[in-house]
Amino acid sequence: MVRAAHSDYDEPGQHYITCYHCGAQVVAPVIARSFGCPKCHRGIALDDITVKDSGWSGLLNTCGRIFIRPRARTITRNVHAGDGIEVLGVLEANVRSGGPVVVGSRGKLKGQVQATSVWIDPGGTLECPMLRIGPRRT
Ligand SMILES: [Zn+2]
Repeated sequence: MVRAAHSDYDEPGQHYITCYHCGAQVVAPVIARSFGCPKCHRGIALDDITVKDSGWSGLLNTCGRIFIRPRARTITRNVHAGDGIEVLGVLEANVRSGGPVVVGSRGKLKGQVQATSVWIDPGGTLECPMLRIGPRRT
């Protein structure tokens, strides 16, 4: 399971998030489920997203985590998760994660990956032309 990473600077009731549109560090209330970026004025989703089966047509952008369940086969252009991504099904996308990326034993992830860490269970597949592992870019 991917655990949410929390910043040392978080204060009770609010936390720092990174806007996935413009990259700004902004403070959001912990209880908020979505938030308007004060810098670029675009909406930011904060909830975790779980894709349970194929045919997902929405955007996969959130400051929380993204879970691709075993029966889901998801092909999209870009995926951004602030806190991590768990792939138990199939995900074909360019992935940016502010937390760990986990590929389960039957999971498959294909695309470019940026993440703080990557874990691939034995049996899982990671196919990517470009891999960057390291601290979040500011
Ligand atoms: Zn922004």
